[in-house]
Amino acid sequence: MPELPEVECVRRSLEPLVGCRVVEGRVIRSDVVTSIGGAPLDRPLVGCTISGIRRRGKSLAVCCAEGPVLGVHLGMTGRVLMVDEGSPIEPHTHAVWRLSNGREMRFVDPRRFGGLWIAPTAAAFEAEVWSRLGPDALEIRADDLGETKTSRRPIKSMLLDQGLLAGVGNIYADEALFEARVRPTRKGVRLTRIELERLASAVRAVLARAISAGGSTLRDYRNAQGQAGQAQHGHRVYGRGGQPCTVCGDRLRKRLVAQRTTVWCSTCQS
Ligand SMILES: [Zn+2]
Repeated sequence: MPELPEVECVRRSLEPLVGCRVVEGRVIRSDVVTSIGGAPLDRPLVGCTISGIRRRGKSLAVCCAEGPVLGVHLGMTGRVLMVDEGSPIEPHTHAVWRLSNGREMRFVDPRRFGGLWIAPTAAAFEAEVWSRLGPDALEIRADDLGETKTSRRPIKSMLLDQGLLAGVGNIYADEALFEARVRPTRKGVRLTRIELERLASAVRAVLARAISAGGSTLRDYRNAQGQAGQAQHGHRVYGRGGQPCTVCGDRLRKRLVAQRTTVWCSTCQS
């Protein structure tokens, strides 16, 4: 499932669209699109010029100079593709936009856990979608983790809570906790100030490294140019339960925490 680094890599790969005009827009499967503030789903964004591609947490906003916004959530298997105009439409393509540069932007999602939003303005989109999210995980500070001071929830479950912190999912939660040397099962309330600082800095570092490596491709993830990422080769705990810890050599533990498979080293993480 794409997390912040993968979505940021998609955002970067869509940047060449800035300045293009939307010539034609077609929603093939209307149940993947949510209209905000009565925005029409018929020929969405047509005639508009793309002015920016923004991201918060795991969602994207394709913003137009005239106001309208296309929001994108990739869910588990969603992809935004940029292809040449008229290329064969692959199965599970739910929406297509033809652009003035001779390319098409398409939203493809076999399992349909992802989705699109069409909003009349950026303000309407932010109020409806982004206002529910915590601060972007790429920029968090220990103070943003303030709610941990009173919470009896495991810290892993807090990192996954998009309302507290936007962008971290199962992969990078485990990687950041390993880097911060904090056990995923520790209750938020028990973490010291120093541990919270270490954790905030580990979250930023782990995400930034994954972005530099083009994101993690475990199964479906590709950027809009169709390129896979390489960050999975740098995972130190995710998917490595039972294997030796890269720091101390002890066997990595694996069990469910916050209903998600969680891997950690009980020697390095306390
Ligand atoms: Zn270890």
